[in-house]
Amino acid sequence: MKIILLGPPGSGKGTIAEKLAKDFKFLNISAGVLLREEVKKGTTIGKEIKKYIDKGELAPYKFVVEMVKLEIHDKKGYILDGFPRSVEQAKIIEDLNVDLVIYLEISEEKVIERFSGRRIDPNTGKSYHLKFIPPPKAIMGRIITRKDDNPKVVKERFRIYHKETAPVVGYYKKKGILKTVDAAPPPKEVYEAVKKIVKDFQKK
Ligand code: AMP
Repeated sequence: MKIILLGPPGSGKGTIAEKLAKDFKFLNISAGVLLREEVKKGTTIGKEIKKYIDKGELAPYKFVVEMVKLEIHDKKGYILDGFPRSVEQAKIIEDLNVDLVIYLEISEEKVIERFSGRRIDPNTGKSYHLKFIPPPKAIMGRIITRKDDNPKVVKERFRIYHKETAPVVGYYKKKGILKTVDAAPPPKEVYEAVKKIVKDFQKK
């Protein structure tokens, strides 16, 4: 099964993708995690990508598409988190024949409120939230705030989201494969709604 998770920054895509991957044994491919890994490696491409991430802009498509395609390779099922992020990217992966697109709908105000508690483990790339998804005690000493989670960059990420990514919602709606989930409740509740959609699809 091929699933795309869509939603604004901070809507919980990463968390939901991880849970789905664990429960349904799906391969989880996060564009943001792949890009951040490349940045961490300090490669020439990584250094280039960092400039975009730090500003909250979309990284050049050729890097993102190549990285995602390498991961997908010949796999039959996966979750794509954070990809596609524009109609242009969606058209590039049209031949993958995605089964389901889950749109995590949430207001900008609610997301900004959430951002203050968001943390990341620099060793694993895993995301946490001080209130909703508390990090294990053992890693408390090393968790950090994502550099692109500061209010100025978040504002830019939203601007880009509205301009580039929001039209992707309509693109998949027209194809009849979009399911919308209210992402404002606590993550556990949101996940239950997502899980039901996936289960119902599998029953078909
Ligand atoms: P995320 O971890 O999904 O919040 O992504 C963090 C950052 O990585 C974004 O703000 C972009 O700079 C970059 N990024 C993630 N996914 C994509 C994509 N599909 N296309 C271009 N840039 C991306």
